[in-house]
Amino acid sequence: MSSNEQTFIAIKPDGVQRGLIGPIIQRFEQRGFKLAAIKLVTASKEHLETHYADLAGKPFFPGLVAYMASGPICAMVWEGRDAVKTGRTLLGATNPLASQPGTIRGDFAIDVGRNVCHGSDAVESAQKEIALWFKPEELQSWKQSQHDWVYEK
Ligand code: GDP
Ligand code: MG
Repeated sequence: MSSNEQTFIAIKPDGVQRGLIGPIIQRFEQRGFKLAAIKLVTASKEHLETHYADLAGKPFFPGLVAYMASGPICAMVWEGRDAVKTGRTLLGATNPLASQPGTIRGDFAIDVGRNVCHGSDAVESAQKEIALWFKPEELQSWKQSQHDWVYEK
C-alpha cells in the first residue's frame, strides 16, 4: 500500500471559529501523516455547491452550504499510507453524537450541522476534492525526516 495516498481534510468555519485548527492538525501530525498543502479560504456558495454536489437533493443542503460559506475554512491535503480511510477514522462519524470519544468529532462536536471537519470518503473523491480546492503548484512534495521511523518500508 503506497505511503503517498492523499486526502482532502478541511476544518469547517465552526472549527476555525472555535480555535480547533491546532488540535485537529496535531492529530494528523502525531499519527505520522504528512501535510502537503494548507490554506485558509472563505469559499463561495458556487464552490461549495460543487464540493457537495452529491448532496444537492438533501433537505439540509441549503443550510449546509450557508454554514460552510459563513467564514474561513482551513483546507488541507494530508498524505500517507491509507490516508483517506484513516483520515475518516480520525474525524469520527458524520453525526458527532455517534462518534467515539478520541475522534475529532467525538471530542469536539455535538450537532451534525456543526461537525467541525470534512474528510474525503474515497481515493477518487479525494482526487476530485484536492483538484477543486488547490492549484497543482500549491501542493508540496517533500520528504519528511521522520519517514523511515513511521514506515517500516
Ligand atoms: P461526511 O462525509 O461525514 O462529512 O458526511 P456527508 O458527506 O454525508 O455530509 C456532508 C456534511 O453535511 C456533513 O459533514 C454534515 O456537516 C452535513 N450533514 C449530513 N447529514 C446532515 C443532516 O442530516 N443534517 C444536517 N443539518 N447536516 C447534515
Ligand atoms: Mg462526505
